Amino acid sequence: MTTTGKCACGAIQFQFEGEPINNAFCYCTECQKHTGSDKWFGIWVAIDKLAFTQGEPAVFERLGDSGQPVNHLFCPKCATTLCVEVPVVNIYSVSATVLDNNQPSSPNMVIYAASAPSWATFPENVPVYEKLPPDL
Ligand SMILES: [Zn+2]
Ligand SMILES: [Zn+2]
Repeated sequence: MTTTGKCACGAIQFQFEGEPINNAFCYCTECQKHTGSDKWFGIWVAIDKLAFTQGEPAVFERLGDSGQPVNHLFCPKCATTLCVEVPVVNIYSVSATVLDNNQPSSPNMVIYAASAPSWATFPENVPVYEKLPPDL
C-alpha cells in the first residue's frame, strides 16, 4: 500500500509504504498554533518508510516534551506543514489533511487532551490521554 501526499501548492510531495503505526488527534499547544485549529490529526509512520518525492521541505526545529528536538517540515512556498519528525521515537507524524489517498476514517486515540482549548470536542469511543499513553 502506497500513500501519497502534498502541500497546498504541490511543490513538496512525499509517499510512504504500508499501514501507519497510529492515528492520533493531538491537542498540544504547538499543534494548535501550526494548524490554526484545536488539533492535529497525525498519521504516524516510521521515518525510514517515508520519502520526499518532490521538493525540499523547510524545517522548524523546536524541543519536545522529552527535551529532544522535534522538526516541523513545511513548504517554503505555501507554508503548509506536511509532517512533524520526532527522531526520539523514530516517527513522522504526517498531517492527515495533506494525504491524497488512504485517509483514515477516524483517530485511534486522543493525546495532550490536558492542553486542549475549552471549545475543543473529542471523538467518542477512543482512549483520551492527558499527555501521551504510558507506553510511549
Ligand atoms: Zn507548497
Ligand atoms: Zn501536538
